[in-house]
Amino acid sequence: MSSASLQPFNSFGVNAHCKNLIKIYSEQDIYDALLTYEAPYNVIGGGSNILLAGDLESTVLVNQIKGIQVVDEDDNHVLLTVGGGENWHNLVLWSISHNLSGLQNLSLIPGSVGAAPIQNIGAYGVEQSQCFHSLRAISLSTGLTKVYYKEDCQFGYRDSVFKKEDAGKYIITHVTYILSKKVEINVSYGAIQAELKNRNIEDPTLKQISDVICDIRVSKLPDPLLIGNAGSFFKNPIITEQAYEDLLLKYPDIVAYPANDKMKLSAGWLIDRAGWKGHSQNGAAVYKNHALVLINDGTDNGGDIWQLAMDIQADVLSKFGVEIVPEVNVWGRP
Ligand SMILES: Cc1cc2nc3c(=O)[nH]c(=O)nc-3n(C[C@H](O)[C@H](O)[C@H](O)COP(=O)(O)OP(=O)(O)OC[C@H]3O[C@@H](n4cnc5c(N)ncnc54)[C@H](O)[C@@H]3O)c2cc1C
Repeated sequence: MSSASLQPFNSFGVNAHCKNLIKIYSEQDIYDALLTYEAPYNVIGGGSNILLAGDLESTVLVNQIKGIQVVDEDDNHVLLTVGGGENWHNLVLWSISHNLSGLQNLSLIPGSVGAAPIQNIGAYGVEQSQCFHSLRAISLSTGLTKVYYKEDCQFGYRDSVFKKEDAGKYIITHVTYILSKKVEINVSYGAIQAELKNRNIEDPTLKQISDVICDIRVSKLPDPLLIGNAGSFFKNPIITEQAYEDLLLKYPDIVAYPANDKMKLSAGWLIDRAGWKGHSQNGAAVYKNHALVLINDGTDNGGDIWQLAMDIQADVLSKFGVEIVPEVNVWGRP
């Protein structure tokens, strides 16, 4: 029987329930929870990349393991081990305040450090994998600890081993990043360059880059505290160059970027061109300023948001022959 409300624990703000809700502050809390409550388990950090389409018949573990610790350093680099329940943006701010480079382009991404490797969070030309060293995880079935190094994680575009064969099997307790003591910046992304120019900044500090990115993000994305959402709902689809050439003949203004020997299409462009931007149905809507973001427009029921996502997915497939798949983790589907 479902009993605990998950409404405060998901950034869509929908009301779904789970059997038990346990806050985890230490590894010992995990062992205790595994002994006390029966499987299945779901792990939540900040709840900013999940859609609860219905109730869960599981025990939900909310990761609140904190701490940022320097565990090693040399002349050029610092190794930092961070509790999985730390807030991601706080870690970015901490690194900037200690003059450590690497994470500044990932400013203001909501959620926890423990979730960052799951979909290999990325923004403005950088992915967390570029600074990733290793992580520590506990198996939800055996309680045994496992350390994953970078080569074990199969990081890709919004992807890792934790979205494939190890999906749902572990709780990540700590993540270790390697950050540079030398100022290393990446301002290749057009929007960052334009805004730095706007501010007459030629040689930006880490803080200035972070500030610019925060301002761009605030201007484009809805604040989940005000409008329930989970950021980009769909991944940008990756298609062959031939499929892209065929689409380009029909849609000369289609937006796409090279991705190795393939092309990454803008899912936002596809959804916008299919006519969904600003559309609202049953309390679920496509954000008026950003077609890739689905928002809670007054529903308590995540199933309404999931229905909208499926309608969009089917329409984009029928209009462009391209399948867009959710980036967001959808739980409790009817
Ligand atoms: C406004 C907005 C903007 C966003 N912008 C970006 C962006 O620019 N780039 C980007 O990549 N993402 C973005 N996101 C998505 C989201 O911020 C990231 O995916 C983030 O890493 C989710 O963290 P979380 O702690 O909220 O994860 P949750 O939503 O709690 O969980 C997400 C998944 O990770 C698993 N998980 C969480 N913690 C752990 C753990 N400790 N151990 C094992 N599994 C775990 C969950 O089981 C679930 O499968 C955005 C979201 C919002 C709302």
